Amino acid sequence: MKVYADHAATTRLSAAAREAMLPYFDELYGNPSTPYALGRQAAERLFACRTELARLLGAARPEEIVFTSCGSESDNQAILSAAWSGARQGKRHLISTKFEHHAVLRTLEKLRTQGFEVTLLDVHENGIVLPSDVARALRPDTALVSVMFANNEIGTVQPVAEIGALCRERGVLFHTDAVQAVGHLPVDVQAMRIDLLSASAHKFRGPRGAGLLYARRGVELARLIEGGGQERGFRAGTENTPAIAGMCAALREASEHMEQTAARVAALRDRLIAGLETIPGAQLNGDRTRRVPGTVNFSFAGVEGEALLLMLDQRGIAAASGSACTAGALEPSHVLLALGQPPALARSALRLSLGEENTNAEIDYLIASVRACVEALRK
Ligand SMILES: *Cc1c(COP(=O)(O)O)cnc(C)c1O
Repeated sequence: MKVYADHAATTRLSAAAREAMLPYFDELYGNPSTPYALGRQAAERLFACRTELARLLGAARPEEIVFTSCGSESDNQAILSAAWSGARQGKRHLISTKFEHHAVLRTLEKLRTQGFEVTLLDVHENGIVLPSDVARALRPDTALVSVMFANNEIGTVQPVAEIGALCRERGVLFHTDAVQAVGHLPVDVQAMRIDLLSASAHKFRGPRGAGLLYARRGVELARLIEGGGQERGFRAGTENTPAIAGMCAALREASEHMEQTAARVAALRDRLIAGLETIPGAQLNGDRTRRVPGTVNFSFAGVEGEALLLMLDQRGIAAASGSACTAGALEPSHVLLALGQPPALARSALRLSLGEENTNAEIDYLIASVRACVEALRK
């Protein structure tokens, strides 16, 4: 049996996304910046996608959606923009958390070398950031709070609306890396008081190579790529029309079926959790209920996570230890360390992330395989 259980790393393109993309590779290949019909058709499609994506995310205006190449670019753009515009007003303090994605953490590291002061908040052992911790860290010179919507390794969902309300009240910009949430959970940037939001198409069955940044009107963006006037001059480069059309179709489809998909995937997830919990020494990482529908993360005391992955691969199972971005490195997961786990336990983690295409039979195969591999590795 082959089981794909790494949907937090990437997903298979949906049929709807594929259909939406094909014409823009082929007969509608025009550059959207050109004035003739072929270019105008592409430009019209881009505008329609911008409008629809804005609506799906609860944004007030299409111009608030900036197309990027990936979630990492959106994170970099959001954080650098907020930091540099803060610095122009004498604000050089940034707040985030210890369990963010490296696209956020490494950007903050870079800003530290540019004279910014960065406060990285601890995360409660259940994998949830406390709004009261954010409130305590706020200072008059705080330019930005960046807290992820859902964690990519353990799947826990953060109190984003509460943190957004708090930041809005204090006049501090709020960014959320929503790459694991968009397409899986309801997201409404206005209701949740979000100023900047990052998303990535390939995490919700769109293509790789397309991301978006929501930037509320009035939030100043940095110009990271100089060149033509695309994306209102904030990001030069000919738009990836096929990928953007695919991203839009994927989010439309995910949004239309969100409730049913979430219920189905959460049922698979809970079956998986119940099965893995019967393995001696297994420990579920992250809050049991406040998590995205598909993501399960366990530590198995005494087992090397990387070795477990290799054995599962031999059984046709695609899974992850830490995040895919740190796999290969034998460092313990920074996420599990942030939750207060000792390094040895944090090195024994396994992430299984499910999608709508998984089945009950696959879940049972996953449980039996993990049990057998954990037993073999402990011998
Ligand atoms: C995957 C991921 C990213 C990076 O997105 P890319 O499109 O792969 O650059 C950023 N943040 C989180 C939480 C992710 O899961």
